[in-house]
Amino acid sequence: MSTNQKPVRVRFAPSPTGYLHVGGARTAIYNYFFAKAMGGTFYLRIEDTDRKRYNEEALHDLMRDLKWLGLQWDEGPGAEKDCGPYFQSERLDIYHREIQKLLDSGDAYYCFCTEERLQQVRAEQEKSGVSVTGYDRHCRHISREEAEARIAAGENAVIRLKVPEQGITEFEDKIRGHIEYKNELLDDLVLIKRDGFPTYHFASVVDDHFMGTTHVLRGDEWISSTPKHMLLYKAFGWEPPVWCHLPVILAAGGGKLSKRKGAASVGDFRDLGYLPETLVNFLALLGWNPGDDREVMSVKEMIDCFTLERINPKAVAFDEKKLQWMNGQHIQICDNQFLVSVLKETLHAEGIDYSNSSEDRLLEIVKLLKPRAKFLQDFAQMSSYFFKAPETFDEKGQRKHWAEGSREIASAVCQAMKAIDEFTTPNIEEAFNDLAVSRNCKLGELVGAVRLAVSGVTAGPGLWELFEVVGKEEVINRIEKALPLMQE
Ligand code: GLU
Repeated sequence: MSTNQKPVRVRFAPSPTGYLHVGGARTAIYNYFFAKAMGGTFYLRIEDTDRKRYNEEALHDLMRDLKWLGLQWDEGPGAEKDCGPYFQSERLDIYHREIQKLLDSGDAYYCFCTEERLQQVRAEQEKSGVSVTGYDRHCRHISREEAEARIAAGENAVIRLKVPEQGITEFEDKIRGHIEYKNELLDDLVLIKRDGFPTYHFASVVDDHFMGTTHVLRGDEWISSTPKHMLLYKAFGWEPPVWCHLPVILAAGGGKLSKRKGAASVGDFRDLGYLPETLVNFLALLGWNPGDDREVMSVKEMIDCFTLERINPKAVAFDEKKLQWMNGQHIQICDNQFLVSVLKETLHAEGIDYSNSSEDRLLEIVKLLKPRAKFLQDFAQMSSYFFKAPETFDEKGQRKHWAEGSREIASAVCQAMKAIDEFTTPNIEEAFNDLAVSRNCKLGELVGAVRLAVSGVTAGPGLWELFEVVGKEEVINRIEKALPLMQE
């Protein structure tokens, strides 16, 4: 098909009415990946023709979230090229020019029916139980001259598409295969509203044509719009794009993913401490696979093997447990310097003073905590004892590690620590080993009480490394201060 030979141009076309939902984000990801994989163009088009639902803040957040995910558009707001403007509200002259063509060819007509009349038609249809409801095509036969005269006289009208009364409209979906709809089930849809703004259907088709869209990758919920779009392409005599309707994302327990069932927007997940790399990786795998069993992947790795053929039409469930696991995995491969900046930011937010710590020390802390971190906030939460002595001690830990005999063990460890000249991980480890040998006990018996004394908690990174980073003097002080709290 000739469409496939043209350079790929795909778009993400959100309506700025609310948050960037994970479903929308996945659509943007697939479009971005496909453009990059094919050496094509990914453009951003803002579908803001529904003026009642337009929200300036949503627009701003949407662009911020796309950038945060790393999905920078090649063309669009802030990156204007020849196909602009990229806001539909600034393209009204194009829609008005194009609708004339359909009026001229007789494929569109003016409709003067009032909202009250339409409601009445609907109510009657419901009462009589007809199988096909919708507009009764009352104005379809009004001549162009009569319609224009009525408009000139001040009457208000919408413009509708003249949908064929019989036959079928069919199309191939790259993901779902052959799809067909009976024309008799399709309404004479409105193309231009009373306020002069186009409807989604009309603007979308006109823009996809003039902006050179070769492939439309969008959520499954739009599939019932596609026959309407096909009819428009036919009426204009334009070649339609390749259609790809992406599988629905369901909540883990079934049903639609929604705020009520937990986090659902990109912003929610950012606030929870997820990395953008994790979200992109996780969402990409909701409905697509790399052809092997890889799961934790970089954007580049995914782009390198991205094909539309490997998008699965089956609905997929959003498994937040897996997302958490994946975040931990991405934190492991994340740049340490970046994590240092995260650590500083989160410490600052928690009001923990880190000004006495050098960059090298912060880097050591990050390296120690990385294997245990699942969320970015964990860095501050798990590291406070590196910056200040613990004020409280885990209660269960106290019962277990500060029980009878623990004071004597802890003071023996304290003495051994005092005897170390250079307080480094290997020397600390050696001192512990020597102490275990001389006391003829297991290493494990020596660590519990002092770990709790120094960190306030029972779990954390390796104790020798932890001691080195906390520092000799501070380790000794903390153990000595805790001794009276331990049982003899
Ligand atoms: N503006 C629509 C949306 O909000 C775009 C649908 C499409 O991609 O055609 O998702």
